[in-house]
Amino acid sequence: MIESARGRLETRLVRYAKADTQSDGASNSVPTTAKQLDLQRMLVEELRALGVADAECNDAGFVLATVPATTDGPIPTVAFLAHVDTAADYSGAGVQPIIHRNYDGAVLALPGDPEKRLDARSAPELAGKVGETIVTADGTTLLGADDKAGVAVIMTLAESLVAQPSRPHGRIRICFTPDEETGTGIGHLSLEELGADVAYTLDGEGLGEVTYESFSADRAAVRIAGVAIHPGRARGKMVNALTLAAKLINLLPQYARSPETTDGRDGFLHLVEMSGNASEAHLDFILRDFERDGLEAHGEALQRAVSAIALLEPRAKLECTIERQYRNMRYWLEKDMRPADLAVEAVRRAGISPKVVPIRGGTDGSQLTERGLPTPNLFAGVHNAHGPLEWVSVEDMEKSLRVCLELVELWAGERRLG
Ligand SMILES: [Zn+2]
Repeated sequence: MIESARGRLETRLVRYAKADTQSDGASNSVPTTAKQLDLQRMLVEELRALGVADAECNDAGFVLATVPATTDGPIPTVAFLAHVDTAADYSGAGVQPIIHRNYDGAVLALPGDPEKRLDARSAPELAGKVGETIVTADGTTLLGADDKAGVAVIMTLAESLVAQPSRPHGRIRICFTPDEETGTGIGHLSLEELGADVAYTLDGEGLGEVTYESFSADRAAVRIAGVAIHPGRARGKMVNALTLAAKLINLLPQYARSPETTDGRDGFLHLVEMSGNASEAHLDFILRDFERDGLEAHGEALQRAVSAIALLEPRAKLECTIERQYRNMRYWLEKDMRPADLAVEAVRRAGISPKVVPIRGGTDGSQLTERGLPTPNLFAGVHNAHGPLEWVSVEDMEKSLRVCLELVELWAGERRLG
């Protein structure tokens, strides 16, 4: 059973990886790219063939399906989610997955590009995977195991549950989501439609990872209106918005909280985009922190810098608006820690030491948790995501599957959440 599950995980990952499902943050369509639906339709068919009869793809491009409960009682409904789209950072077209069997610890050459080599320097976790099956792309594309490894694990979970009806579990919901990388997908999924009491995204990295803390996030827009005038007659009159933008940026490094100077539990203020001309400049920032106070401090630092520039040049008009994005999911989970605690216990029961790590970003689960559905994130085994050196160990995917099976069983012994 275990051996064949591993084989099926590998086959599924390879099949899904070959489908180009890149999402597009600039598109206003739902989903952002129609090609994501090609894989979604394939997944619906596959679920139905496995005996998951109600599988369907809804109008917003979400695949939803149910594995009915095998025991009675007020057992919580558990949902498992993985995203089908791949990141825009690197090409996801024509992916050629390469299977490196019985990995010997040496440098992995990627045949499509001799410059791209995978070794313990670019991937320290690889050193621990000797003897395992490593899957990469050929060096010219990303692999898209983020998050097709998660999709393959959930599909194989559904298959295992359907094949073993004697295994006790409550109602299980399966959900394959579009547009996670653009951040625009999950808002189109209603909690009523998902119909779960607790959920897990399988979108984490290394073996044993359980995440129930994400960043809290705001975004800020700074608009600078200068005074434009013909440059030949500008003396004493022109106020160049771009010059002021540069001064504003120069005030911020002293604050020293940028992505490139922080890690661990430190947050940051990050200039993501700027544009403009002498008459007007636009600067877009993102603000990130694990704590509310920290997030506020980043906002205040930006506001102070904007005020300083306004004092320096009263003829210019400066405006800084800060908008709320999402909040650390821990704030909601703290009310009932079972979704996190049972995940950690499931990892332990699968014989793996749990790694509880705060995620320096958001997940679809951040938003779902805030909307009332507790959704921690579990590992699917993917490393170096969003680039040509992306890799995953099939053995790690199998362990991820084992964790899900343990988790389903642990929830079967629980009552519905308060
Ligand atoms: Zn992902």
